[in-house]
Amino acid sequence: MHGSVNLSAPVILFPAFSFTHVSSLTPCQSYWLVVRVFKSVWQHYTSTSEIAWLLEQFRGMLNDCIRIGLAENVTSLKSLSLKAYRQLSGYDVASYYKLCAISAATGILRNYRKAKRKNPHVREPYARRPRLTTCYGFKVRDGELSLPIHARKHTRIRLNPHIQAAINGFTVRSVTLTEGRLSLAYASEVQQVQPRGFIGIDRNLDNVTVAATDGTVQQHDFSEATRAKAMYLGVRSHFKRNDVRIRREISGKYGQKQRDKVKQILHRASKSVVEEAKAKQYGITMEKLTGIRKLYRRGNRQGRRYRGRMNSWSYAELQRQIEYKAKWEGLPVIYVHPCGTSSRCSICGQKMKPEENRTLRCPSCGRTIDRDVNAAKNILARALRFGVVGLAGEAMVAEPARVQQSTKSMRGS
Ligand SMILES: [Zn+2]
Repeated sequence: MHGSVNLSAPVILFPAFSFTHVSSLTPCQSYWLVVRVFKSVWQHYTSTSEIAWLLEQFRGMLNDCIRIGLAENVTSLKSLSLKAYRQLSGYDVASYYKLCAISAATGILRNYRKAKRKNPHVREPYARRPRLTTCYGFKVRDGELSLPIHARKHTRIRLNPHIQAAINGFTVRSVTLTEGRLSLAYASEVQQVQPRGFIGIDRNLDNVTVAATDGTVQQHDFSEATRAKAMYLGVRSHFKRNDVRIRREISGKYGQKQRDKVKQILHRASKSVVEEAKAKQYGITMEKLTGIRKLYRRGNRQGRRYRGRMNSWSYAELQRQIEYKAKWEGLPVIYVHPCGTSSRCSICGQKMKPEENRTLRCPSCGRTIDRDVNAAKNILARALRFGVVGLAGEAMVAEPARVQQSTKSMRGS
């Protein structure tokens, strides 16, 4: 479609991003871009032997494609299609799935190559769990999802009222099936808002701190998510059995449960952050996550147990949620470089000294400020400095007049 941009493409990092053409528009043209945005919704379903068979076939095809891609050192979708398609002839499934398996394998191979550049010892990819994603061949009609199995054989899955209400009025773009779970991605075209300002978001172990161009600061408490994670780690450490398969299965099941729990908590936080931004018509700025550096920030007091994959997963998950919810509302989302946001003064840019109670003191301008508030203000300032020129001067020079600190409880919001 003309003028639309697929936002599932990788996010642009800041230096390449410019608002200059926005300010040259007249007010009536202030909407500058129509973008296609995606959301997804999921439900449980009861698997049948047919669906289990299809998932297993798909996993087989995916692993075949990965193997071929690795052996032939193929990088592009086109060349993997040429090398792999014929070798999938032994699979008696609808041909859509072969294309989808090739496309999924291309993505996995791409990620693997990226990871290998950083760490040459990274394990070769192999799909263990059945998972199928398709953009073709399915139909959603009368509250049912119809999926092809073979060329002429279809299977149907009943959609629950929640998922039906969510997709009502939208076009379903893709279907993802795992054992017992069905997820639908749907799209909408939205006009991107010309932001009147920005909010900067700093995520910590126990809270999310939001600093806005209008000088307000809000903190969303997060300790509930930390406790849910701790519980997950506690449950896991009880498994002493040496059977790797049992351990993997059990930790997988508990892992999923705890991930769902943490996700729910994150959903409430991301929803209220985006609602605030929407009410003010503000864009959103976050740090580009680079590894797990920030998790080691001094004073977080997390034990080593917290610094696991679960933790970095929940950081990334919150950003993912904020990003897609903001884009759904047409609010621009910007990522800035995290370097120095937690250690430099948000007024004068000098290196700050840690004080008690998670505060920092600036030896240059003498200000004492909450560590997280300082970081959020730095993230915000970074977006303004490179972005909306008119606002940058104000935000950099002005003493943030009155920091209005409100701590919101996550429960029931
Ligand atoms: Zn200072």
